Amino acid sequence: MSAQAADGGSRARAGAAASALDVMSLAHRFGPVTALSDVSFRAEAGRITCLLGPSGCGKTTALRLVAGLERLQHGRICIAGQPVAEPEREVPPEHRGVGLVFQDYALFPHLSVLGNVVFGLKRWSRSDRQARAMQTLERVRMQRYAKSFPHMLSGGEQQRVALARALAPGPGLLLLDEPFSSLDSRLRAQIRDEILHLLKESGCTTVMVTHDSEEAMFMADHIVLMQSGTVVQSGTPHQLYCAPAGQFVAHFFSEINQLDGIVASGAVDTAFGPVSAGGLADGGAARVVIRPEGVSLVPDGSGGGTRAEVLESRLLGRSSLLHLSCPWEGGQVHVHARVPGVVIPGPGTVLSVKLDPAQVFVFSHDG
Ligand code: ATP
Repeated sequence: MSAQAADGGSRARAGAAASALDVMSLAHRFGPVTALSDVSFRAEAGRITCLLGPSGCGKTTALRLVAGLERLQHGRICIAGQPVAEPEREVPPEHRGVGLVFQDYALFPHLSVLGNVVFGLKRWSRSDRQARAMQTLERVRMQRYAKSFPHMLSGGEQQRVALARALAPGPGLLLLDEPFSSLDSRLRAQIRDEILHLLKESGCTTVMVTHDSEEAMFMADHIVLMQSGTVVQSGTPHQLYCAPAGQFVAHFFSEINQLDGIVASGAVDTAFGPVSAGGLADGGAARVVIRPEGVSLVPDGSGGGTRAEVLESRLLGRSSLLHLSCPWEGGQVHVHARVPGVVIPGPGTVLSVKLDPAQVFVFSHDG
């Protein structure tokens, strides 16, 4: 093996330990459209960071700026501690040590699988390219298809070739833009499982864009949740799900029930009893957000709970959804409860429900 190939291999391993990405105060406009207002985040070495958010919130723009495919307007980007983009100075994309996988894979149709992977190794010595490409295809279990052309492969296989092409040069940073969105839902679950393990084995620092909260929870060590060109919360999946910074964050990860009330004596009174208002001041309007899985059924005779009537019940597969109605302040409140199991109470059944405090959040509510 040449010095260059050896260096490439050790760089890939060393990169796993040392590379990280720092994105600081990015702002970006396309004419009158503000794509990013003030975006900062960090991707830790060897970890998978997901940029998550609804369509149009600026995820792809942020990723393209990191890759160098978009000219920086404001802010600063460092890879492995080295500035690669500042308003006065930009390192060209090919010198950033970044691997890219796009939504549509962007494989060259006229090149074989091996040719596609070799293409990314232009900076390697000619004699080492084939061996390195084959070694990377083995890592993604696509060596049998080396002579095939992209049109002969399934979507999942093309995805693995695109990943091999991006990983082959041993990038310090791997950027994935909605990598599973072209796959049907069954294949998507299988491929993302495989790719999660491949990425973890490679140790490559990865930043992945997705609009799918479940996908982000599945893949990410760290999630950066964006809305309208800003970061609304970043942290582990557990932090975002269990301690959402606001209603947008809570709602982005699941359906929610919302009950409005006024804070009195540090609590908000609801049909299901008082809920602690956290730090909200007495007299303020509050919104109580309850995840459907936080509305639990209380067994008969156990005491406590609030009586509620089942309006509708639906088996959803992994869980069931109950539509519940409960008397409150002269009217009725309607909430959804998500419960495990396939034996579910039918319409008209009266039961007792309780809230799981871990699935209930209170936010100030100006409307
Ligand atoms: P999606 O999930 O739909 O891809 P996104 O979160 O990745 O969305 P971006 O693609 O970064 O969002 O777009 C952010 C905003 O910038 C959107 O309003 C989009 O229409 C706009 N935008 C993006 N690229 C361009 C461009 N080349 N020219 C003009 N406007 C653009």
